[in-house]
Amino acid sequence: MKYICKYLLSLLAFIILNNSYSKQNIIQNIRTSDKPDKLTTRIVLDLTHKTAYSVFILDNKPRLVIDLEATESRKSFDLKSKLIEKIRINNNGKGVIRLVFDLKGRVFIDKNFYLKKDENNLFRLVLDIKLSNKLIKQSSKNNNIKIKKTFIITLDPGHGGLDPGAVRYSYREKDITLLAAKELKGLLEKKGYKVFLTRNKDEFVSLRKRRNIAKNNSSDLFISIHVDSVKKKSTRGTSIYTLSDKASDKVTAMLAERENKVDLIAGIDKEVDNEVFSILLDLQRRDTKNASASFAEIYVNKVRKNGYRSLRRPHRQAGFAVLKSPDIPSVLVELGFLSNPKDAKYLSNKKSRARVLKALSEAIVDYVKTRSKI
Ligand SMILES: [Zn+2]
Repeated sequence: MKYICKYLLSLLAFIILNNSYSKQNIIQNIRTSDKPDKLTTRIVLDLTHKTAYSVFILDNKPRLVIDLEATESRKSFDLKSKLIEKIRINNNGKGVIRLVFDLKGRVFIDKNFYLKKDENNLFRLVLDIKLSNKLIKQSSKNNNIKIKKTFIITLDPGHGGLDPGAVRYSYREKDITLLAAKELKGLLEKKGYKVFLTRNKDEFVSLRKRRNIAKNNSSDLFISIHVDSVKKKSTRGTSIYTLSDKASDKVTAMLAERENKVDLIAGIDKEVDNEVFSILLDLQRRDTKNASASFAEIYVNKVRKNGYRSLRRPHRQAGFAVLKSPDIPSVLVELGFLSNPKDAKYLSNKKSRARVLKALSEAIVDYVKTRSKI
């Protein structure tokens, strides 16, 4: 009993301590310095307390975002840096301050760490941001730093190779998804976006590899393209899925199970997610999840506007493995139903297929606009 009391007391002390930390943390100053390599900028935050933070990069209109447990900050800081244009500060009044650094080019976070208290009794949160590799190559060639602000999309034609996906009438899902992805790529490139495909021929690609392709191309958006199939022939129309931990209904759970089984078919073990995620990773995931959901809503509205048929509840959630990137907004679009004769005919014809692809490309344009506002 005595032991338990002691334990509870120390736990309480820990909570109080933590609370007082978040209550009191004040951003005293923000300083920057450019390193001699001209590619790295160091950002230093002088803080009264050492508190939790999360940091991430948004690549369209490049920005560095720091969410910091803190309550007070000056409204502006005068920063002079080769990589930073300006800083915006938003205090939500709930103990978290968001710092948004508008950047002059695409960067990655090279280092981030805390330094012990200095002589002024302040903690220092240090971040080194560095121009991304591709840019470094470009700049060494041209001898000046080019600013890259292209929005990058990875399109993922579902299935392929030994996995045909749904097969109905004389059509195979893997063929339609590949054609659709290639056509959509063409539409998006005309709009000035950079587009990658996870496969450009009839081959098997594991779900994990599909996610990695998106990551390695530093994608801003990942769209997996599929064609649905159910027993009931009359069901038709498009739908869009975003990731959830629990599938929203039984049918969705079954579908997720089927799509996830693809890796098992090919003898690749399903990825086992870590049981415990840190709070910071969770913050980032939430941001990605919100962005994915916002894309799904935009798509649904575009489809309705264009008079294209959709399911009654077109935005659904499921535990698709292919959507599990923690930092890339990801959606899975079912263009229609291969099990419905009209949809099957419609989607296997290039001209009629163009209608749903137009809605999808317009949704991307609108989505990019909303992402630039953060
Ligand atoms: Zn599929």
